[in-house]
Amino acid sequence: MAGLRVCSLLVTGANRGIGLGLVQHFLRLPNPPQWVFAGCRDPKGQRAQELQNLASKHPNLVIIPLEVADPTSIKAAAASIEGRLGGSGLNLLINNAGIAKINLLENETLKDMTEIYTTNTAGPLLMGQAFLPLLKKAAQGSPGSELSCSKAAIVNMSSIGGSIASAFGWDLIQATSYRCSKAALNMLTKCQSLAYKEHGVFCVALHPGWVQTDMGSSGGHTPPVTVDDSVKGMLKVLSSLSEKDTGTFLDWEGNVVPW
Ligand code: NDP
Repeated sequence: MAGLRVCSLLVTGANRGIGLGLVQHFLRLPNPPQWVFAGCRDPKGQRAQELQNLASKHPNLVIIPLEVADPTSIKAAAASIEGRLGGSGLNLLINNAGIAKINLLENETLKDMTEIYTTNTAGPLLMGQAFLPLLKKAAQGSPGSELSCSKAAIVNMSSIGGSIASAFGWDLIQATSYRCSKAALNMLTKCQSLAYKEHGVFCVALHPGWVQTDMGSSGGHTPPVTVDDSVKGMLKVLSSLSEKDTGTFLDWEGNVVPW
């Protein structure tokens, strides 16, 4: 990932799964970012243990309390990160936090549909709004006019499950609320790319593969892709993207995923 050089980034849902893997990879780089902000909704809890251990070894890792379904929490996180950055911008926002429920279509409820949409779709929308000033600042502070993930970018962690064109596997999982939330996240990504282009902010939706995490393994399946391989793949893809790719939907191997 020689091409991806960021001074600062924020990953949401960073205490486990793919989010934690992303944080670990950035910290291990030969030239790690100056700031790695790890959003976590319960920073002092048991589920943040690995993140706390990492933070005790890496002074550039800052754990930020962040509940993406709560606008007040998002605003507080943006203010806290702005303070840490001391006048600099934020290069990369990775909207990774997400939830899923493996409901059969007939068992979907208003509560599940609303909860999943709030976290997976409204969360990234509000995050984009709250962090736009810092992303703009990063874009203005980076040389060159071309959009890129090194300059200023929003990466929305989507899923092939949200692809209408490749909807299949209904026998395995239905998870309609989750699929709808990711299809809507894809549209959000396109809208963000159009609106934020003039501010120098690149936007992309990524499918991380079927990955060995709590979410990936729910339903009793063993996913084929390790967190490590998914994260390495996605960072390689991000490093290769240029302005023409803003507003696209790609997978962890760089393939275009049909909407
Ligand atoms: P996990 O379930 O392993 O982890 C989810 C993370 O999101 C946890 O850190 C969790 O925090 C956090 N989170 C959930 N809700 C919120 C919230 N409201 N506010 C803040 N943080 C929250 O999932 P994965 O790592 O597998 O998934 C990461 C992303 O990748 C998701 O967006 C998912 O949809 C997507 N994805 C995953 C695939 C897979 O195969 N694993 C396939 C396709 C897409 P906490 O510990 O507090 O619950």
